[in-house]
Amino acid sequence: MGNLFEKGTIALVTGGSSGIGQACAIDLAKNGAYVIINYSGHKEGAQETLDAVLKAGGAGAIIRANVGVEEDVNNMFKKIMANFKKLDILVNNAGIIRDGYLLMMKKEAFDQVINVNLGGCFMCTQAAVRIMAGQKKGAIVNISSTSGITGSEGQANYSASKAGIIGFTKTVAKEYASRNIRVNVVAPGFIDTKMTRANKELLEGKYLQHIPMGRFGQPEDIAHAVTYLASDLASYVTGKVLTVDGGMTM
Ligand code: NAD
Repeated sequence: MGNLFEKGTIALVTGGSSGIGQACAIDLAKNGAYVIINYSGHKEGAQETLDAVLKAGGAGAIIRANVGVEEDVNNMFKKIMANFKKLDILVNNAGIIRDGYLLMMKKEAFDQVINVNLGGCFMCTQAAVRIMAGQKKGAIVNISSTSGITGSEGQANYSASKAGIIGFTKTVAKEYASRNIRVNVVAPGFIDTKMTRANKELLEGKYLQHIPMGRFGQPEDIAHAVTYLASDLASYVTGKVLTVDGGMTM
């Protein structure tokens, strides 16, 4: 157990039942934060994350909410305030893909991805900033993607949502810097998770040659960047995009 975070630090990680969110929750807990692990449909995954947190000597809880549904988000933050009376760290990690080339993409697929990825980030950030502004301290880390920076074929909806997260982050960072709330982005490249595994061979064939470090990243590679930005080590860093992609975009 590290002590990067002081005792009593409360962190919420959305989409914490798998992949990058799971790794973030475990890493924040290893560094001393109490982690609230959000899930939408995959309770067993969230429980698996909590088990790993406890095994690592950390502490936490699981909480259900679909981040794309306003009522769910409001209820989640109400429960957090009822139980903990504060929130120090928010990691907006929950995200989905519904890929397709532009001319094949249904409006419904566009809306769904924007609603969960960008709308979820908006609603959770708004609820968290309400709490953090009163505390005069907080750190928010939003998970974007290199797709939001460079674009990505077949991902018009996803890239738009992830680019939106960057503009959104910089705006909130400017609005609330005076309240000592820092808001930053981590933009992962290709990370070995459920999201990429279905197409791993295809993606490796297509993209490995463009990754100078010659490998896909691991969820922990992202978690370490998130922990840094969430911690006081980054106390003078806000509105920034930290790309973690093995050098793929420079
Ligand atoms: P993943 O599918 O394992 O994780 C996504 C998580 O979000 C899951 O736990 C899922 O249940 C949860 N989720 C989805 N919709 C939700 C909702 N409405 N409410 C609450 N939770 C919801 O994939 P991952 O790779 O770990 O993705 C995590 C984040 O990282 C996503 O935002 C993704 O866009 C981003 N990302 C991933 C990669 C990659 O290569 N894997 C690259 C760039 C960015």
